[in-house]
Order: sequence, then C-alpha cells, then structure tokens
Amino acid sequence: MKTAFLIVLLLLLAPCEASGSGPGQPPAKDEGAIREAAPPVQVPPAAPVVRRKVRYPGEPATATAPARAQAPKASPCPGQLRKQQIVAAYRNRAPGQWGERVEGVRTRLDTEEPVVALTFDACGGPRGSRADTALIEYLQQERIPATLFVSGRWIDANPALFKRLAAEPLFEIANHGLAHRPCSVNGKSAYGIKGTASVAELVDEIEKNGKKIEAATGRRPRFYRPGTAYCDEVAVKVAGELGYEVVNYTVLGDAGATWPQEKVRQALLEAGHGAIVILHMNQPRSRTAAGVMEAVPLLREKGLRFVKLSEYPLR
Ligand SMILES: [Zn+2]
Repeated sequence: MKTAFLIVLLLLLAPCEASGSGPGQPPAKDEGAIREAAPPVQVPPAAPVVRRKVRYPGEPATATAPARAQAPKASPCPGQLRKQQIVAAYRNRAPGQWGERVEGVRTRLDTEEPVVALTFDACGGPRGSRADTALIEYLQQERIPATLFVSGRWIDANPALFKRLAAEPLFEIANHGLAHRPCSVNGKSAYGIKGTASVAELVDEIEKNGKKIEAATGRRPRFYRPGTAYCDEVAVKVAGELGYEVVNYTVLGDAGATWPQEKVRQALLEAGHGAIVILHMNQPRSRTAAGVMEAVPLLREKGLRFVKLSEYPLR
C-alpha cells in the first residue's frame, strides 16, 4: 500500500524533473530546468505578474504546499510557471535605456554613516576564471567584510575555492550571472559581449546561477550584478520579479582589473559615506590587490569601516 502510494507520488512529480516539453507546455527552448523553492502563484492568465516575496538570507523558506493540494497533471512546475508568467508579462516591453545606471539599478548604500561596501566580481570565462588569492587572503586577515559577485563560469572553474568563500562569514555571495552576459531583453551588447536576447534567456542567466549559489550557501542570493554591469530598465524589472536587487557601483575601483596600483588606490580614497566600490577578484596578475592593500589602512584612518551590501538598504 505504502509502496503503491510512493509510485503514484513519483509519477505525479516526474514531469517536474524532466527538462523537455510536456503537454500544454511551450517548446523546450523557453523552458528552464529552473525549480524554485516558492510555491506556484495562482494567477488568472491575463493578470499581471505577482511579485514574489523576496526571501532574504537567514529568513526561513516559505513552507511548500502539500503535493496533493496541487493538480500535477495540468500545471507546470513552480519555476516553469513563474518563468512563463514573467515572459508573458514582459515579452512586449521595449526598453529605452542601456547602461550601468538605468532606472532601478542601485548604486549606493542608503546611509550617511561612515561605511563603504567593497564588492569584488569574479567574471569567469577564458580570461576571467582565475582567483586573486592574495587579495582574498588579505581581506580575511584584515577581517574586511565584502560582497562577492560570482558568475556560474567562475564557480565551475573554482569549485573548491567557491565552497570556502561561501562558508566564510565575512563574505556574502551575490549573483553575477550564469554566463556573465549583459542584462538585456533584446540582445544588446556591451564590450563586444552579446547580452541575453530575450526575457526567457535573461531569467535563465539569473536563475540558473542563483540555484548554483543557493546550493553552496543554502541561501538564495539577494543581489545581482549583470556581466559587464550593463543592463536595460526592463531587464532590471525582470530581475526584480525574481527577487533580486540589481547593484552596480558608486566608485569604479579597478576598471575591470586593468588599472595600475596608484589608480586603484586613488579611486578607493574617493569612496565617501555609503559608497559601493566595484573591484575584481579574478585577475591575480592585476594591480587590484596591491591598490586595495594600500588604500584600506588610509580609509580606516579616515574613520570609514567596511560593510556588506546586505547591512544597509540600497538606493
Ligand atoms: Zn564581471
């Protein structure tokens, strides 16, 4: 009896584990292997997308409704349903802005306290998958809290280090996209890198890396920085539907890890109260670490202290 029940349950759950198309579902191209923790939202077909409550780090997950309360035969999985709703709501919205500071992007902490948030990107890719271990060790030795924006490509290239960073309480892990693509709903490019070409691609770029991070940290990331930091304002809204704040920066700290030590130091010394500084932790041959090491004691002398993004509201 118990075995029979289990078999029935497994059969009911089976479509959720398959990544291909099922009856009544759109072609595989538009489907994600995304499965979310939140229960499906019951929305009438024509209704606008309902914003899902953001689950912040440390906050308990919403209890999942019992399987038997759903009608598994007719409804797609929660993640697929969510993606379909977002695609339907945003597919015809044409963006009018393209850049690092479009409408909705956060660029500073909403405080006048003497705090600075250092953020370090790990972009991944053929020339971006190394790790600046001297920089990371320095942050740990000096007990400097930081927010690390990590792409799926970098995670795949550095699985052991990523696990250690995820377990380090000084750091919080944020989402830098699965493939480090500019955050677009229509394929706009930045620095010669093609952005996501549709809402569906954008949802995958964000959510599939979010799942990777959640698997390692036990927490759904709260912040997303697009690959190259470029985005359009519709894409920023889509990220918001997924529960993310899109975060760029107040102070450009190392220009993609290309600046000499002196320029990194100078940039950091310009960071005022509530500034978010963008730097990189994936270029060990860069002068970023040296510039940071020079600037940190000087910033501390000025009375500034370092915080993670999640410690303050953003604006
Ligand atoms: Zn990057």
